[in-house]
Parts: sequence; C-alpha cells; structure tokens
Amino acid sequence: MKTFENISLKEYNTFGIDVKARRMVVLEPGDDLSGKWKEERGKLLVIGAGSNMVFTKDYDGTVLILNGEEVRMDGLFVRAWGGMMMDDLVQWTLDNGLYGMENLSAIPGTVGASAVQNVGAYGAEAKDFIERVEVYDLQERCHCTFSNADCQFAYRDSYFKHHPNRYLILRVTYRLSREFVPNLGYKALEGLPHDTAQQLREAITEVRWQKLPRPEEHGSAGSFFKNPVVDEATYRRLREQYPDMPEAHSVTQPLSYTVTYKLSAGWLIDRAGWKGRVQGRAGVWPKNALVLYNADGCTGDDVRALAKAIQQDVKQKFGVALDPEAIII
Ligand SMILES: Cc1cc2nc3c(=O)[nH]c(=O)nc-3n(C[C@H](O)[C@H](O)[C@H](O)COP(=O)(O)OP(=O)(O)OC[C@H]3O[C@@H](n4cnc5c(N)ncnc54)[C@H](O)[C@@H]3O)c2cc1C
Repeated sequence: MKTFENISLKEYNTFGIDVKARRMVVLEPGDDLSGKWKEERGKLLVIGAGSNMVFTKDYDGTVLILNGEEVRMDGLFVRAWGGMMMDDLVQWTLDNGLYGMENLSAIPGTVGASAVQNVGAYGAEAKDFIERVEVYDLQERCHCTFSNADCQFAYRDSYFKHHPNRYLILRVTYRLSREFVPNLGYKALEGLPHDTAQQLREAITEVRWQKLPRPEEHGSAGSFFKNPVVDEATYRRLREQYPDMPEAHSVTQPLSYTVTYKLSAGWLIDRAGWKGRVQGRAGVWPKNALVLYNADGCTGDDVRALAKAIQQDVKQKFGVALDPEAIII
C-alpha cells in the first residue's frame, strides 16, 4: 500500500483534467485492507483508470486506486484483480484459449469498473460474462461476494453504480468459452475478418479507434451520454418528423409490458448541429457526436457547460432528455 498527499489527478483521468486529491491510497493484490487508510472525514472516491470521470474541482478526500495485475484461470472461469486493465484481460483470455470477450476489446478502464459500468460494445456487455464480483465493503468493513444476479446489471448500470464508493471491487470472475463463436450481429462489424478470435479483436480495435479520439492526443471519457430510452409515442413522433432518424429496436419492459425504444444519442446531437463544434476548451468529436473531448487544456467546468448546452438544445429540438454516462465529480 502506498499513500500520497496533495497529488495531481491529471494522470488518473482520461480527460486529462488537472485537479488535485488531498490524499491517494494505492492498493495492490495482497495488501491488508483492514482500515489503515480509513479517511478521517469519511470522504472516499474509488478511481479505476478515470476513463469515465470528469473532475470539476479538487477532491477534498481520499482517492483509492487499485494497482497491479493478478489473473487466474480455473476451467472456464477467469478471476482477475480489479485494478487490471480490461483490455489486457481480454488479450490474456485469448492467449489462454478462452473466448467470448473479443467484442469488448480496447474499452479503456479496469476490470473493477467493468462490473460497475457493465461496459459494453458491439452487441456484448460485461454482464454476459461476469459470474461473481468480490468486494470489500468500505462501510461495513468486510469482504463479500456478489453473484451476477446480485449485481442487478442493466444498460451501463449495476447495483454498484447506485451505491457509489461503498464497495471496492477487488476481483471479478468471468465465465468464458473454449469455443470461439464470433458475435458479428452488430452492423459496424459486418465484413470484419474473423477466422480467429485474435483477428476479430484486432479488427474491432481498429474500427473503434477510427471513431474515437486517441487518449494520447485528445482526452475524453468515450461516449459522454447514454442512448435515451423513450416511449412508443415519442419514437413514432420523431420517426415521422425525421424520417432519416435511425430505426430503433423496441424493448418490452418486463414488469409493465410497456414498449420502449433506445434512440441514438449520437444522431440526436449530430442532427442538432453539434458535431465538430468547440465551446470554450471542450468540443464534440468531429467523427463521433457522442464523444466530448478536451480540445485544449479544458477544465471540468468547460465539459460540464458544453454538456449542458447540448442537453438543453436536444431537449428543445426533439423533446428528448439526454443523461450523461460519464460521472461528474
Ligand atoms: C476513448 C474511450 C472509449 C470508451 N468506450 C467505451 C465503450 O465502448 N463502452 C463502454 O461501456 N465504455 C466505454 N468507455 C467508458 C469507460 O471505458 C468505462 O466506463 C470503463 O468501465 C471505466 O473504467 P475505469 O477503470 O476508467 O473507471 P473509472 O472511470 O475510474 O470509474 C468509473 C466508476 O467505477 C467506479 N470504480 C472504478 N473502479 C472501481 C473498483 N475497483 N471498485 C469499485 N468501484 C470502482 C468509480 O468509482 C466510478 O464510479 C470509453 C472511455 C473512453 C475514454
């Protein structure tokens, strides 16, 4: 365990926003968790790789970071340390003849956050593979394990997301397959080479970076907004008004049996005229309207102001509310 005081978080968030934390505690596999780093003012923030966070001010508390790598295989099960990079884990699984997570290639961030965010891409989500999640309960100060069902996964959502900074996710176990069955249902994957899982992984990685800012060039948090889910009447109204709007799949809600539609937030933002625009020192990525980026040394307030302007405009033009996927601190 290492402790740092008054440390810049610039290297700990992919937006590259330069704020400070009063204290940082870095834990590695095998470290004792029994409260040595207990924060006297009780303010704790768990950071993975900071790839879904926007800092708007200095953090007057302790940030907890998991460092290092540890991964074990037991049959079809892979148990990985929460601080390991998710993309390194995907490569590790392929190197060890375990398949399934190819479509999650090149998603920035850690194994721990994959269970918080239920990360997803190209028709696959972490929840499809997560068997169990081992946590340290920072409130009750004990270890416990969540099954997949306990995690209450939904679109970019989980039980953990609704209890922020209570559970430190130490290890996630994924259940994979010995058989490679390419998951090519998603339109953007049509025609990609897929003789081997490695080939598909590399092709997906290439496709992804064509539409996203490279972190070493421009900071971002990936998709800034969630795709909004609307009722049938709203969907029909918009389709009539905007025949060029992409068709959305309908989803029947399990309890109420009402039908909802998930719209493309990127299309709404693009259609509202925001793609490529820069406001202050933050901008909307020219190749992907869903991504807000650090145009030139931006602050969290620049990002927040741009996001708010987009939300207001989309609401006014389409009557649809956009919720951020990124976590604003
Ligand atoms: C260029 C780019 C592309 C992206 N593309 C995608 C994509 O295709 N699909 C997708 O789903 N996401 C995408 N994202 C978002 C991001 O990769 C995910 O949200 C990822 O899970 C964040 O991981 P992280 O480790 O950086 O988490 P952070 O941003 O550090 O944290 C996210 C949340 O998880 C919590 N958390 C993190 N680690 C732990 C832990 N060990 N225990 C408990 N809580 C924890 C934090 O407190 C916070 O609430 C993208 C981001 C970028 C920058």
